[in-house]
Amino acid sequence: MSTGTGEPFLTVTDLHAGYGGARVLHGLNFAVARGEVCAILGPNGAGKTTLLRALCGMVAARGVVRLDGADIVGRAPESVARLGVAHVPEGRGTFMPLTVEDNLRVGAYSVRDRVRVQADLARVFDFFPVLKEKVHQQAGGLSGGQQQMLAIGRALMMRPRLLLLDEPSLGLSPLVTQELFQIVHTINQEEHTTVIVVEQNAHLALAIAQHAHVLETGRIVLSGTAAQIKADEQVAKSYLGYRV
Ligand code: ATP
Repeated sequence: MSTGTGEPFLTVTDLHAGYGGARVLHGLNFAVARGEVCAILGPNGAGKTTLLRALCGMVAARGVVRLDGADIVGRAPESVARLGVAHVPEGRGTFMPLTVEDNLRVGAYSVRDRVRVQADLARVFDFFPVLKEKVHQQAGGLSGGQQQMLAIGRALMMRPRLLLLDEPSLGLSPLVTQELFQIVHTINQEEHTTVIVVEQNAHLALAIAQHAHVLETGRIVLSGTAAQIKADEQVAKSYLGYRV
């Protein structure tokens, strides 16, 4: 469904969103090119999670969001998912009593083609070999890192065109987080999946992103290439843990 007009894959214009009367996002503007990784940085409560929820139809929003030519504001989450948007929420949302395999099959709920589902399972196991080892185990018995891998694997079963990752590093050790980001990088490179990643660990996010936006109290206060954002003195002080 490419527009072929040179329009960015995702364009967000004057996006407002919130919960009931509580306004959280106050007019965001940014664009994401096809196949790129875009990082959203910012302090707790800035509205990063709300932004991802607004993009996948989970919170009330107004403004214009165009995904490959389609307007998505106001659509139900299932409708946005059908357009190829997969959301991996903070806290992961895996089904603990279900096996690894059944969790992955839930991700393919809309796919009737069994051969395709088998191929997609094999692809997920290529990215996350540990999930293959644990394919018949309950998700509840996995480590935090493995559960995050399962959540991303489940999203991949949809063959998403846009992957929304909310704080994938939450609660994980630095080593596991590094491994996870390396895999996200590989997925982006090999599947050409466009990724928006919300992350407190700015170092890792900026290592795999081409562009980044810093969100504070519901507004974008800084945008640039990953290199520009890394070099910004204020970002360095606030999010990278050192002074330039
Ligand atoms: P964090 O890193 O802490 O998750 P964040 O940048 O992702 O922060 P959000 O979770 O989007 O920020 O929260 C932005 C604001 O929206 C906060 O003031 C928060 O209290 C509020 N908020 C978040 N979820 C809800 C909700 N379900 N109902 C009402 N207000 C909410």
